[in-house]
Amino acid sequence: MTDVVIIGGGVIGLAIARELSNSGLDIIILEKNDRAGDVTSSRNSGVIHAGIYYPQNFLKTTLCVEGNKMLYKYASEKNISHKKYGKYIIATSKEEQSKLQTILRQGIENNVEIEMVSKEQVLKNNPGLNFFEAIYSPSSGVIDVPDFVSALEGDIQHFGGLISLRTNFISARKDNDKFIIKCLGEDKFDISSKYLVNCSGLSSEETLSNIEKFPNSRIYKNYFAKGHYFKYSGKSPFTNLIYPISGQHSLGIHVGFDLAGGIRFGPDMKFVETINYNFDDSLKNKFVKEISQYWPGINPDKLHPDYTGIRPKITKPNEAMKDFSIETSKHHDIKGFFNLQGIESPGLTSSLAIGKYIKNLLLKA
Ligand SMILES: Cc1cc2nc3c(=O)[nH]c(=O)nc-3n(C[C@H](O)[C@H](O)[C@H](O)COP(=O)(O)OP(=O)(O)OC[C@H]3O[C@@H](n4cnc5c(N)ncnc54)[C@H](O)[C@@H]3O)c2cc1C
Repeated sequence: MTDVVIIGGGVIGLAIARELSNSGLDIIILEKNDRAGDVTSSRNSGVIHAGIYYPQNFLKTTLCVEGNKMLYKYASEKNISHKKYGKYIIATSKEEQSKLQTILRQGIENNVEIEMVSKEQVLKNNPGLNFFEAIYSPSSGVIDVPDFVSALEGDIQHFGGLISLRTNFISARKDNDKFIIKCLGEDKFDISSKYLVNCSGLSSEETLSNIEKFPNSRIYKNYFAKGHYFKYSGKSPFTNLIYPISGQHSLGIHVGFDLAGGIRFGPDMKFVETINYNFDDSLKNKFVKEISQYWPGINPDKLHPDYTGIRPKITKPNEAMKDFSIETSKHHDIKGFFNLQGIESPGLTSSLAIGKYIKNLLLKA
């Protein structure tokens, strides 16, 4: 018997577990892989976002804005490698000018520090960049995700929580006021728990179909949106994150960094039917073409395949962007069950704030 079982040991499950175990609750995380944080949590840009792009009333905005501050503070306290690079969002043509203004207005509405900047300011630290106009977000940066995952794991263990690796969630049913949860590790076993939290990311649909009496009408279909990253060998002229104007479903092929100072470009975006992380080398030409629009000096010979990631979207390809979905018994009528779906970007940035948000919901339940 435990207080809380959390399905999924990505940054979201870990951040929730950290908050709850720190509040004195007994928690168990079920993670099917050999290591925590090995799926979407380690296949992303590692960017600490500011919370610019989403409507003001979205959880994506409030949790990102709060998560940004919490993440910088946590990273400093725990000595996690991170850097506030600052980010320029650029219009590469006059036609993109109105889109840039829309992003600026949204950022201001969201109470994010953001401003129009002169061409000279941008070019001083990023020579060779081709653009028409730019806005600057000083609070955007990069964090070392494996370091972040290790720090969360350390905290959870310190607060007495248990991360059960190589353990598959199989099913759950409610028995009076507790859940009976079937698991498969080396053997099959059951856990009973007062609360259950689903943060199984790309597998969330399957997880929900194995929770007795969970209404089908509340299961969001997952749309898998794959992205590729190419790394750039040798020196680049950039010292800030550079984001071209975003598309409907992604923030575009941007300039990002690892914390060793290496530079990479990506991710692109394509909806796929199945989850595989194979790298499509033939995308190189597309990358070179897109990057050349803002960096004509790119040397294609220095661009090499790096890795891929898959966004767990609940937004259909032709639909307007949906918010994170965080649902409680108010939505699905199963008391004690907290269901997270569609935790795509800015999920990494928002993770600590999501942990706090779930703790507040759970303590009130
Ligand atoms: C290409 C890309 C770029 C991104 N860039 C950024 C960025 O720059 N900044 C940002 O803030 N966010 C970014 N994100 C979003 C961010 O990565 C995600 O929001 C975040 O990692 C989601 O974490 P998670 O814990 O929900 O999912 P995951 O990391 O996928 O964790 C889910 C876990 O559940 C486990 N699991 C699933 N089913 C079961 C089961 N039955 N039993 C036991 N365990 C199970 C899985 O093994 C997995 O470890 C990006 C995402 C992508 C794909």
